[in-house]
Amino acid sequence: MKIARFSAAGATSLGIVEGQFLTVLTGRADGLSSDMLELISHWDDLEPLVRALPRTADLRVSEVKLLSPVSRPGKVLGIGLNYDDHIAESGLKMPEFQTWFAKAVTSITGPYDSIQLPKASSALDYEGELVFIVGKGGKHVSKSAADAAIFGYCVGDDVSVRDWQFRSGQFTLGKSFDTHAPIGPWIVTADSIDARNLAIRTFVNGEKRQESNTQHLIFDCAAQVAHLTEAMTLEPGDVIFTGTPGGVGVAMKPPKFLAVGDRVRIEIDGIGSIENEVAPEA
Ligand code: ZN
Repeated sequence: MKIARFSAAGATSLGIVEGQFLTVLTGRADGLSSDMLELISHWDDLEPLVRALPRTADLRVSEVKLLSPVSRPGKVLGIGLNYDDHIAESGLKMPEFQTWFAKAVTSITGPYDSIQLPKASSALDYEGELVFIVGKGGKHVSKSAADAAIFGYCVGDDVSVRDWQFRSGQFTLGKSFDTHAPIGPWIVTADSIDARNLAIRTFVNGEKRQESNTQHLIFDCAAQVAHLTEAMTLEPGDVIFTGTPGGVGVAMKPPKFLAVGDRVRIEIDGIGSIENEVAPEA
């Protein structure tokens, strides 16, 4: 099932996407609000209701504005160095431990919104990634129980400001600029997709820059959940970026950073695509 958050006629709603059409969920039954975090938090109770709702195809997907599936999760985390070819191009060693950083929750933006070229830097880069949205979450979730902790998947761009990322030994600021976490176009629920085998591609102005498959993740989503929850409680709606394959701009010789007007498109088979144009910081 694909669940989208969108705005139409001035209102924000949730809906189920089927082909070209959306069936509105918001207001259709008690507990079905416009808040994705609510839906995820109460999914055990709401899922039977949602599955039983007649699909009324209320709107065309093309006539709404798709929003980031969640807007203010409790956390946004990203794993670094999680594909062989990206490790090779970065000149770093295969990590013994998972390498995690935080992205500020205010970096989240919509699947077709613009990403800002900051005033503070011109070293703007893309990272096409599979993103998972935490469902039940929990603490000390074993690898074998991890799948049940995940609500679903979307496409994300772990937009990175490379000079800020590397100059201090801490990634967080370079990963946290406003608009630098576009996600979407919707959440594909975990039951309806095999996240261990999904082709992923990134294009800049139509030129293919990244191409891989999530089967090449060094630490898969289950391993990520198990590791993270040794340290912290994962909560419904938390957004987790699962790593980028080779082909980022900073690794090109010479490096090719994003400029105003560039369009970054990221596709994951079975989920969909996001596309964001680079705009100057307002
Ligand atoms: Zn990344």
